[in-house]
Amino acid sequence: MSLRALAAVLAGRLAGWISRVSGRGGSSLPGLVARWIDPRILMRMAARLSWGAVLLTGTNGKTTTASMVRRMVEAQGTTLLSNRAGANLILGLTAAFVQAERWRIWPRTAMALLETDEATMPRACREIQPRVVAVTNFFRDQLDRYGELSTTVKFVRDGIAALGEQAVLVLNADDPQVAGLAGAGFKIFFYGLEGEAGEAGGEDAVDARFCPGCGSALHYQRRYYAHLGHYRCPGCGWQRPRPYIAVLRWSRAEKTALVRIGETECVLAWRSPGLYNLYNQAAAIATAAALNVPIDVIKRSLEEFRPAFGRMESVTAGNTQLWLALVKNPVGFNQVLAAVHEDPEPSYTVMILINDRYADGQDVSWLWDVDFEYWISRLRAGHWFVGGVRGRDMAVRLKYAGVARDAVTVGDGMEELLDQAVKAADGGTLYILPTYTAMLEVRRLLSDRGLVRHFREG
Ligand SMILES: [Zn+2]
Repeated sequence: MSLRALAAVLAGRLAGWISRVSGRGGSSLPGLVARWIDPRILMRMAARLSWGAVLLTGTNGKTTTASMVRRMVEAQGTTLLSNRAGANLILGLTAAFVQAERWRIWPRTAMALLETDEATMPRACREIQPRVVAVTNFFRDQLDRYGELSTTVKFVRDGIAALGEQAVLVLNADDPQVAGLAGAGFKIFFYGLEGEAGEAGGEDAVDARFCPGCGSALHYQRRYYAHLGHYRCPGCGWQRPRPYIAVLRWSRAEKTALVRIGETECVLAWRSPGLYNLYNQAAAIATAAALNVPIDVIKRSLEEFRPAFGRMESVTAGNTQLWLALVKNPVGFNQVLAAVHEDPEPSYTVMILINDRYADGQDVSWLWDVDFEYWISRLRAGHWFVGGVRGRDMAVRLKYAGVARDAVTVGDGMEELLDQAVKAADGGTLYILPTYTAMLEVRRLLSDRGLVRHFREG
């Protein structure tokens, strides 16, 4: 071990300790310090993993998919290190390695499972040389981030181009931009849905309905939401690849999904409502299959699975059921509304909390790209509560979508608004849909009341 690497790890850990005790809790500082001392530290540490690393990327679903994969891998007895939710840039990835151990220098874990931002993929792939790269989907994220979707796809493509030939790809067959990443020479595990499509959700923001090969508009035989579905290119004949992992049927009432894994069909638990969660689950199963996790271990892990922080997480407050679902971009928001719509109850209460701090995306104009017009007439919301820093913008958005003025309560204080909403939902269901920092606030309020365990990221 070089003295420089040793110094990098120790200094990185010290920086992490200082930022924790000083209450700043910065997750990238240890990575910054370690890389400043030894720019090759991530490369060195990743190379020592006996099994290797898995990088998970894509616009939506990384955190949920990662937590499911983690459970499946640990259930078969493999140890792994992972990064904290949101710390998915190169400094966050470096920090995950540097801080993996307390009393030892090098991580003892066999594997690393890392959520990776799309723009970080080229660098992360070069330095980490992962054995598996899993891609969930590509959607236009908050408008102020990277601009064009094609740029985002190119980042991931460049990352894959830096992989060795033994690398395995896990790709969403139903997203043409993701399926289009399949290149010669790699072993690929495709996953997708094959059940009835149901209501696809209006003319959802459509990001990528064009053939990645020749640019022709794709024909869809079936569409689950946005551009996810079964497609074929009339120009060059390219079509959705047949997935190795296919979800054949699902039932919200029974909380199960029938899944084909290779040639085996099995009924698995499906606890998180929403088709987007079904995709996350399929992504996790495909990643686990790529890691040779046996089917019975996958099955058992899903039965024990609890959704990750704020990803359609359910909490009971007295006799009222609370569901928390993070909203962060138009497609994600549409999918959360679709999941609410699947609720068979005749009425429920909905609370939307919109902040515009950095972690939320500072431009709230994306709310106008959410298909409220489509969903408002279909949802059976008895009353709407809106709040957060930009609660008033949200109220305006609902008004334009046709919600009656007296069906909406706008509040400034989050605690007071939460109390009102819980009271209004009395005995029924309250859906709480916050942006990221609003989620932290509401989660803190619930934790103060002992309703949720105190939130720790990661
Ligand atoms: Zn084509």
